[in-house]
Amino acid sequence: MSGTFSVGRLFGVNIRVHFSWVFIFALIAWSLASSWLPGRYPGWSGGQYWVVGIVGSAMLFVCVLIHEMSHSLEAIRRGLSVRSITLFFLGGFSQIDGESRTASEEFWVSVVGPIASLALASIFGLLYLNFRSSPGQIAALLQYLMIVNFVVGVFNLIPAFPLDGGRVLRALVWRATRSEQRATRVTSLTGSVLGFGLIAVGIFFVFTNDLITGIWLVFIGWFIQSTASSARQSSAERRIATGRTVREAMDEGFHAVTPGTSVQSLLEDHAAKDFQRAYLVMLGDTLHGIVTLTDAGRAPVSQRSEKWVSEVMTRAPDLVTLSPEDPLEEGLRLLAQRNIRQLVVMESEKPVGMLTRAGVVRVMEVAQLLPTTERSE
Ligand SMILES: [Zn+2]
Repeated sequence: MSGTFSVGRLFGVNIRVHFSWVFIFALIAWSLASSWLPGRYPGWSGGQYWVVGIVGSAMLFVCVLIHEMSHSLEAIRRGLSVRSITLFFLGGFSQIDGESRTASEEFWVSVVGPIASLALASIFGLLYLNFRSSPGQIAALLQYLMIVNFVVGVFNLIPAFPLDGGRVLRALVWRATRSEQRATRVTSLTGSVLGFGLIAVGIFFVFTNDLITGIWLVFIGWFIQSTASSARQSSAERRIATGRTVREAMDEGFHAVTPGTSVQSLLEDHAAKDFQRAYLVMLGDTLHGIVTLTDAGRAPVSQRSEKWVSEVMTRAPDLVTLSPEDPLEEGLRLLAQRNIRQLVVMESEKPVGMLTRAGVVRVMEVAQLLPTTERSE
């Protein structure tokens, strides 16, 4: 996710915060100080409301981090590697490398998060019972943390992907049907239903004068629906890719340019004619690198005729390459994981093709039109 900054490491996991969280932090502190607390604990000074509001918002941040940390620690315990935890406007997510290998792995890594939130709710609840008799700032804080952790725990148990409950359901369907892809299809559909449902409820709220709750629900709904549909998409891609090699999806009709081509000439003489997004930079049979329209765009307009593509290209040693016989799934994984648009396919040290997402989509389209025997899942 772009727009994030690192705030430190915990148990070897990089903790990152997306800038949207800063906004949410302020929004929560403000809504606590201006309405939630005064409604329940009247008679404090304005400063007291703000202090408790800010502390409450910060504690919520810590609780969400504990929820995410529980996912990460369970994943690490099962031998998966966790790159980072990112906190953003909807809470947090753990970036775990690789998909779960088994249904039980998926089940446990997912279920510990809501368990952690509900455990926190119980702890704050028990503490709150002790302080309730003397209503003050501490009681207010404990009451808020009890409620909010309970809500986080229960909301995440809704069986709709990408929520934790959806992953738990996915693990259960996976185990029952022995098909990971069928499980993804089912739970991403429940995710889309929940997403659209939340958007509808949100729009209703907007028209009944609860603007903030409404916008909030639309946002959450949109996020859930788009995550669910992209999970469905990538699961379909993987199904098509299963059993195929990179050779079957790569583009062999690519054009190349020499390192001494100017950026201006790349755009005018090549890109404007054959509309490729990326060009191999070759001298004879040797690959020097790859230059994309994004690279070309980085050269200032006034310098385009003096800049050579070799100055803006990604150099060959830094390129991720594939062999034509590599599984297509591996190519898809690399494209997604590194967030790049094309991979160079090399055979005996020579480039023989390029693998692009668009190329894979074409293979998918053709595959769907051909009457195939059901591919094994
Ligand atoms: Zn979770």
